[in-house]
Amino acid sequence: APAIWWVRKDLRLGDNAALTDAARLGPVLPVFILDEVFQEYGACPLWRFGLGVAHLARTLEAAGSRLILRRGPAADVLSGLCRETGAAAVRWSRAYDPDQVARDRGVKAALDEQGIDAASLPGHVLFEPWTVETGGGGYYKVYSPFWRSVRDRDVGRQLPRPDFAVPVRWPESETLEDWNLAGPMRRGADVVEPHLTVGEDRAASRLDAFVVHRLDGYKESRDVVAEDGTSGLSENLAWGEISPRACWHAGMQAVDDGRAGAETFLKELAWREFGYHLVWHTPRLVSANWREGWDSFPWNEDERRAEVTAWTQGRTGVAFVDAAMREMFVTGRMHNRARMIVASYLTKHLMAHWRIGQRWFEHCLCDWDPASNALGWQWTAGSGPDAAPYFRIFNPQTQADRFDPKGVYRDRWIAEGRDAPTETALSYFDSIPKRWGMSPGDAYPEPVVALDEGRARALAAYEKRNF
Ligand code: FAD
Repeated sequence: APAIWWVRKDLRLGDNAALTDAARLGPVLPVFILDEVFQEYGACPLWRFGLGVAHLARTLEAAGSRLILRRGPAADVLSGLCRETGAAAVRWSRAYDPDQVARDRGVKAALDEQGIDAASLPGHVLFEPWTVETGGGGYYKVYSPFWRSVRDRDVGRQLPRPDFAVPVRWPESETLEDWNLAGPMRRGADVVEPHLTVGEDRAASRLDAFVVHRLDGYKESRDVVAEDGTSGLSENLAWGEISPRACWHAGMQAVDDGRAGAETFLKELAWREFGYHLVWHTPRLVSANWREGWDSFPWNEDERRAEVTAWTQGRTGVAFVDAAMREMFVTGRMHNRARMIVASYLTKHLMAHWRIGQRWFEHCLCDWDPASNALGWQWTAGSGPDAAPYFRIFNPQTQADRFDPKGVYRDRWIAEGRDAPTETALSYFDSIPKRWGMSPGDAYPEPVVALDEGRARALAAYEKRNF
């Protein structure tokens, strides 16, 4: 009887425990479901996910297999497919964020009831959240001790791509064209696509190229926003086109080889782990103030406020912030340093609720990740675990002087007021909706809030807060 490999955010054949286990059990029936969780994803993540799924489908076809596509509640689809094909087992890569956990529990219960052998396997993170414990037996709320407790752990060997048999008969499949996952992207998709690196093979090459060319300078250049100093792997990790274990091994090998930057890279991977550790132990991280004391803080929750619109549209009049917001809209990603600056600006200078920013990122990022995004927002806003002191307010101007000293990043992304705008800056205007009413010939906007005024306002609000 076939074994279903329920494909989710694990779009790879190598180092995939779920696929490997399914292959052991019988002919493998790979199934992707546009289910109740995935169909709610933001425009860019959903579209990028679809590109990854299409790529995996092609890889499977080249190997003589197929990817069956179905739409609907995952439990119903999988139960139905088991009946239809006689599949006796279902395997999937474990998820840790609350939406997926709830769905997966429902699936497991439904399949158990049907007598199907249903199981999840690890692979999306390196360290199962419940296996990392403090001396007192609790979970970690602070990053540094978390890092110390995982850094020397054995993460096991990578699994090779398994050989797998294919079913004799294939069930019907829907098509990605039917789903039109690019729909919500409107005209933006053409602009974003050249900036993407889709698929397992390209993800592996990306890791190799990073280790060869950029790792030695990583510690310093990872903060220089105009430089391509980081790995870019978040895009592939988000969709499982590379395993965190492959990245970890590469980092460990580089440590052994005495390469500068290697430890820093491992520490960043551990931040991703920390995000999942926290989301598992405190699922509210994705939806509510992690520190409940912040619930009474007077954040402005009006998403339609003019200043907030200026932020999403990259026209706050603060060039570093605007450059970063445009980078995200055009490329589906944003430099980490810039993410912190725009998040600080939104939640502090504009006093907007961090959830507004979290949602916009969720709409725009091709590397959107529920845990890292929530942690990044709450960390910056001050309401999260291991947060920067809440009263630390990044000054976008000083940050620009430091991390974009020659203004290369700002020139790359801002066209208004420039004699010869870069092509990249102009491409922003091809991607944004017409109704935003922006054009490259406009005057560059005046700041929506003076930096010192915004800062003073936030500090005054913090002072009144009852800690
Ligand atoms: P590299 O510097 O090459 O780092 C290697 C890997 O380490 C990354 O691919 C990523 O998996 C992990 N990593 C690095 N920094 C962080 C971090 N601060 N937190 C968690 N993991 C990290 N990351 C996402 O993957 N998806 C998100 O939706 C996301 N939203 C964010 C929102 C905010 C407000 C902030 C401040 C950060 C957010 N991050 C998010 C974290 C970080 O900005 C990105 O992971 C990083 O920019 C990815 O680029 P890279 O792959 O080149 O990173």
